[in-house]
Amino acid sequence: MSKILIRGAKVLGGAPQDVLIDGGTIAEVGEDLSAEGAQVVEADGKVLLPGLVDLHTHLREPGREDSETVLTGTRAAASGGYTAVFAMANTFPVADTAGVVEQVWRLGQEHGYCDVQPIGAVTVGLEGKKLAELGAMHESAAGVTVFSDDGKCVDDAVIMRRALEYVKAFGGVVAQHAQEPRLTEGAQMNEGVVSAELGLGGWPAVAEESIIARDVLLADHVGSRVHICHLSTAGSVEIVRWAKSRGIQVTAEVTPHHLLLTDELVRTYNPVYKVNPPLRTERDVLALREALADGTIDIVATDHAPHPHEDKDCEWAAAAMGMVGLETALSVVQETMVDTGLLDWAGVADRMSFKPARIGQATGHGRPVSAGEPANLTLVDTEYRGQVDPAGFASRSRNTPYQGRELPGRVTHTWLRGKATLVDGKLT
Ligand SMILES: [Zn+2]
Repeated sequence: MSKILIRGAKVLGGAPQDVLIDGGTIAEVGEDLSAEGAQVVEADGKVLLPGLVDLHTHLREPGREDSETVLTGTRAAASGGYTAVFAMANTFPVADTAGVVEQVWRLGQEHGYCDVQPIGAVTVGLEGKKLAELGAMHESAAGVTVFSDDGKCVDDAVIMRRALEYVKAFGGVVAQHAQEPRLTEGAQMNEGVVSAELGLGGWPAVAEESIIARDVLLADHVGSRVHICHLSTAGSVEIVRWAKSRGIQVTAEVTPHHLLLTDELVRTYNPVYKVNPPLRTERDVLALREALADGTIDIVATDHAPHPHEDKDCEWAAAAMGMVGLETALSVVQETMVDTGLLDWAGVADRMSFKPARIGQATGHGRPVSAGEPANLTLVDTEYRGQVDPAGFASRSRNTPYQGRELPGRVTHTWLRGKATLVDGKLT
């Protein structure tokens, strides 16, 4: 593999520097580095970040290849600046055995657009009744460390306790989709003023918050780690803040769409805004931004949830829940967190690379941009502004809530261990 010199890049948003990649490794970071024998990429003041890591991606393979495959999903990831994604377990069949997680892991290895780390199901078939083979999945070639029934809540407290006890033995983590099932039966959107006006079934904040409260107490009781997926309410933030102040081992994520969009959009009845957990209120959005800035919420995770046209282009009540997110995540974070002054680029690197890699134990990812580290990098033109055009997405699905919306920033280059996966905005 040849040498690449990235010239004049603002590393983590700092002063422009040169970064020399040699093979799969960062060889040198400094001023006026020699370009001898190297292919030169003129960064011209663009921001260089460590490759992004997504702890929450739905790649849909096996079973729903009409929505996404490991190949199309990882191409979408590379387009969005990601070098590693964690693939959720709610596939068909469910990733609840060593065999299925190894299959997903191998597909990721073969395609090579980014590393794919499978997430194992907590319970057999995501049915919430019997613990899946957590140990066998951990010991498989896929080396699973994150377990989740995402899409469904592990609502049985005894099962949750056993899962926390089990993963503690090998330092794993349970990622909870916090949704009390009885409180959300028939729910179509956030419960509040808008749901009352529209007459749609409401999804109360307490359905999320009550599970988070229970699970941080369980994690404390067991002395294990729990991760809370897609926080969406101000109350959830308060519970996580309290738990962290008590030293409980809890981490939390927020999605880009919960940092930007509110339930007012449901008035359009456009199912592109239908998502689980639902879009909440302005007050919640502001609380989530503040919590991401102050570290109460550890990371941004996309919850990239591709659906084919026919599952979204129908009446609100019948539409599938979820949005694609890999190709717009960084732009939404720039809009909501950087351009608002809440986070600088070093903070973005922390929330979208360093910390998610640490929570998921993604070896070689989320590392500093310095000599000797793996060359997992992404280059961002932060001055760019443009309208989102889903026709250009690498994802197989188009269910973005941002179609036609102007967003800042564009990923121009991504390198996975020194190999370019995206050059000048085009996949290799
Ligand atoms: Zn979920």
